[in-house]
Amino acid sequence: MIIGHLAVVGIAKLTFFERENLAVLAVASFGPDILDKPANILLGMPGRGMSHSLVVFAIVCILACIYWLRMTKNPRLLCAAIILWVSHLAGDFLQWRVLLWPFWGSLEPGPKFLFAEKLTSYYVEFRYPYQLWFEIICITVLLCIVFSKFFTGNALSYGSSQSLKSLLLKLAGKFSRESAQEKTF
Ligand SMILES: [Zn+2]
Repeated sequence: MIIGHLAVVGIAKLTFFERENLAVLAVASFGPDILDKPANILLGMPGRGMSHSLVVFAIVCILACIYWLRMTKNPRLLCAAIILWVSHLAGDFLQWRVLLWPFWGSLEPGPKFLFAEKLTSYYVEFRYPYQLWFEIICITVLLCIVFSKFFTGNALSYGSSQSLKSLLLKLAGKFSRESAQEKTF
């Protein structure tokens, strides 16, 4: 799942975590790959290695909690980051061997990550059908949210609320001017 992780970021940003930092959401959604893929390319370690395990997830959670408790008081961002990291693990349809590392045994070095080759295997050869379907679902959900957000209810309600607000401000201004005039007479 490549584009799917991006779609999950979009879903999070347009629904529950609208005010949260987009860059943090994106980093959390691609977190395991950000750690594992360079290690695979540079050191020959598995492309889905220890950073895709629950042990590293637990360590990242503890470090993030310590950082957030000291630096900021926005628990929503921390919550969003954790959910998006979990969504990455779920979307990758990981083997138990990877998820439960090191308790399920050691991980073997994988082939070197090549982006073009991965794209071909995903979207041309359909080697990972479950992930592809999950990805299609995520993209469809994102498109539905975008559509509903900008072309139906929310767009109308946003426009309506803005016009209602400006109307109320004008009425309030008119009322205050009239009451000031009455006082002068
Ligand atoms: Zn991954």
